[in-house]
Amino acid sequence: MKRKKTIYDVFVIGGGINGCGIARDATGRGLKVCLAEMSDLGSGTSSASTKLIHGGLRYLRYFDFRLVRESLKEREVLLKNMPHICWPMRFVLPAPKAMLQKMVIRLGLFIYDNLGGRTILPGTKTIRARDPNLGTILRNKFSSAFVFSDCWVEDARLVILNAVDAKKRGAQVLTHTKVKSIKREEKYWKVTTESKVGITKEFFSYSIVNAAGPWVNAFNNNISKENTSIHLVKGSHIVVKKMFEHKNSYFLLGQDGRIIFVIPFQEDFTLIGTTEKPHDDISREPTCSKEEKKYLIEFANSYFNSNLDLESVVWSYSGVRSLYKNLTDNQGSMSSITRDYMLHVELINELPILTVYGGKLTTYRKLAENVLFKMKSYFPKMGESWTSEEPLPGGNFKLNEKARLVKELREKYSFLDEKWSTRLINSYGTLCDGLLGDSKTKEDLGIDFGHSLTEKEVKWLIEKEFASCEEDILWRRTKLGLRFTKKQEKKLSEWFQNNLSM
Ligand SMILES: Cc1cc2nc3c(=O)[nH]c(=O)nc-3n(C[C@H](O)[C@H](O)[C@H](O)COP(=O)(O)OP(=O)(O)OC[C@H]3O[C@@H](n4cnc5c(N)ncnc54)[C@H](O)[C@@H]3O)c2cc1C
Repeated sequence: MKRKKTIYDVFVIGGGINGCGIARDATGRGLKVCLAEMSDLGSGTSSASTKLIHGGLRYLRYFDFRLVRESLKEREVLLKNMPHICWPMRFVLPAPKAMLQKMVIRLGLFIYDNLGGRTILPGTKTIRARDPNLGTILRNKFSSAFVFSDCWVEDARLVILNAVDAKKRGAQVLTHTKVKSIKREEKYWKVTTESKVGITKEFFSYSIVNAAGPWVNAFNNNISKENTSIHLVKGSHIVVKKMFEHKNSYFLLGQDGRIIFVIPFQEDFTLIGTTEKPHDDISREPTCSKEEKKYLIEFANSYFNSNLDLESVVWSYSGVRSLYKNLTDNQGSMSSITRDYMLHVELINELPILTVYGGKLTTYRKLAENVLFKMKSYFPKMGESWTSEEPLPGGNFKLNEKARLVKELREKYSFLDEKWSTRLINSYGTLCDGLLGDSKTKEDLGIDFGHSLTEKEVKWLIEKEFASCEEDILWRRTKLGLRFTKKQEKKLSEWFQNNLSM
């Protein structure tokens, strides 16, 4: 008997934050959704960001008020719905000496504090640059600084938890599945995919959402009549050993008009970024060049009493922004190109295809809502917007309860130390009990791969979070790759070969 073929309502191309956010939202509204990601979830731009949920103070300079307002509002919505992977951060902005410049920045911060409404995050204050809480890291040339609020997010986990929730609600999520072509067939789209081992499959859908980030035009150039251009801009970060003890981050203004962030990272490290370089060939994997490393090092050394050099860099990463080429763009710097998104719907032979251009992690939830608003006329029975009130998996607790959760987890599982318990809560929130189960001792968690990663957690990440190799675990599900030795990596890789080989 011939099997009836499944026809999806929405087929999403790309498992970055935008694709996964859209898949989750659409599934929660009752649509039948399939998402295909050619590599690991979040392995594109979405795991290579500065990891901030922020209004984008610097966008005020370009009068991007719509984007800044939407982003500022989103900070607290996201903070409430994912307090395990997202938390408030205070940023120190050393004030320039010139009075006019100082006043303009203070005015900008006043707008920033009041444009999007705040109930959780504290507002800006002015401090002495040599405030005892900041230590002596900042060079003597500054006399005062502004301290303002934004938020941190574990970017790759944000993507994965959206995919996990989409799947829980009924979406089909395919990783390591590349969309090779899309074509109209009868009354629906035919999507042809290829898996990493070369298996070709066909899927059918009434609509397509192209959320392929920097790869977005690979299909659109073939099928769309409208050829929207994007700028591809590479941004790199370096990671060095912890530069200062306090938990504040820095927002630094450069002579060249750019800003960089210096952020406490993974307890023992400091993250410095980002650069902006054109990256026209998306088939070339972005990497942090020596020139970019030097730029970031010199930038940081000019602000801090530090002697960073190339040897200080313990890790670096790069990602490619796909920025929407607005016809009104001036020919200014890459920093001046809008970070706003554009959604383009086109009907090709009566079948909708929606393309996502640009965007930020911060606005992914709103972007998904807007995508579904645009799809409403094709699926009039779909549900209303819902994601602003629904926590991501493991995020069903209040931000101020985190310390209690860490403590309770240690009480229940007495073999956990503070650092381990904190890492687990910051990753899995209220799902930690499910992960640790009825383990009574450390030995009950199976093989110890090092730095508190155990076989039990690895199996959980494979079963629940789509992990398929050691890199997925060390660099996206966790950031333990920063601490793992080559020998430890090999042990994990061998475990995968022995347990997951096809
Ligand atoms: C250096 C840098 C710093 C940033 N910092 C911040 C920040 O601090 N805060 C913030 O809000 N935003 C930040 N951003 C922006 C943010 O990271 C991006 O807007 C966001 O990650 C884009 O997500 P995306 O889903 O559109 O793209 P991606 O994450 O790139 O996802 C697209 C996915 O599509 C997949 N794909 C492509 N082609 C196919 C195909 N044929 N078949 C199947 N899958 C395919 C890719 O593998 C990829 O995983 C930063 C960006 C950069 C580059």
